[in-house]
Amino acid sequence: MQYHIQTDPIWEAFKSGCDCPLCEIYAASEARLVGQYLDEAVMAPEFRVEVNKYGFCREHIRKLFAGKNKLGLALQLHTRMLSVRSVISPCKSYKQAVKQADELEKTADTCVICRTVDEMMLRYARTIAQMFTNEEEFRNVFSKSNGFCIPHYILLLRESNKAGGLTQKYLTELTYLQNRSLDRTANALERFTNMFDYRNAGSAVKPDPETVPAAIKKLKGRVL
Ligand SMILES: [Zn+2]
Ligand SMILES: [Zn+2]
Repeated sequence: MQYHIQTDPIWEAFKSGCDCPLCEIYAASEARLVGQYLDEAVMAPEFRVEVNKYGFCREHIRKLFAGKNKLGLALQLHTRMLSVRSVISPCKSYKQAVKQADELEKTADTCVICRTVDEMMLRYARTIAQMFTNEEEFRNVFSKSNGFCIPHYILLLRESNKAGGLTQKYLTELTYLQNRSLDRTANALERFTNMFDYRNAGSAVKPDPETVPAAIKKLKGRVL
């Protein structure tokens, strides 16, 4: 049962034909977590302890604010604020000022949502390597996919030993896929830039507006 909870989203993302299945999984997991911090996590003590300790990063505080539960967000911000407040006391020297700055900086941009979703992504990256070893059908779907964004490709490389005895085969396939995908994106960029060449002025073929956002996503992951 646990295995399927983990593998079902992977199957779904790989079959979608997207440019990074892990970005798809990330987006779904993140949306679920943001929903959770505007709902059941608001009043649950174990979640509140974590929120007080780590807070939310800019990106997630923006997403929470865009959500529908301002009261729930205010309750969490209130106790997080008190936790930050507790670090601030009068400074009697520059040394103390720097110490206080360091202490505040430790959790200035930490985030409960990032921590949870990063852990989830690590588990998904491991499961992908295991599925490659365990499921022949998955190997086929994997080899037909469009590669990954660079941050998620790095994660897959780091967790590639979870493919066990098939690690070498997995790496061969993974690096091949990734280069094929980058070649495709690079070629699309070249076609795009060539369209601005004066020799192509008046051409019936127009630059594809998806080219640049697709290239940004390939290099950086989901930033747009
Ligand atoms: Zn990605
Ligand atoms: Zn975050």
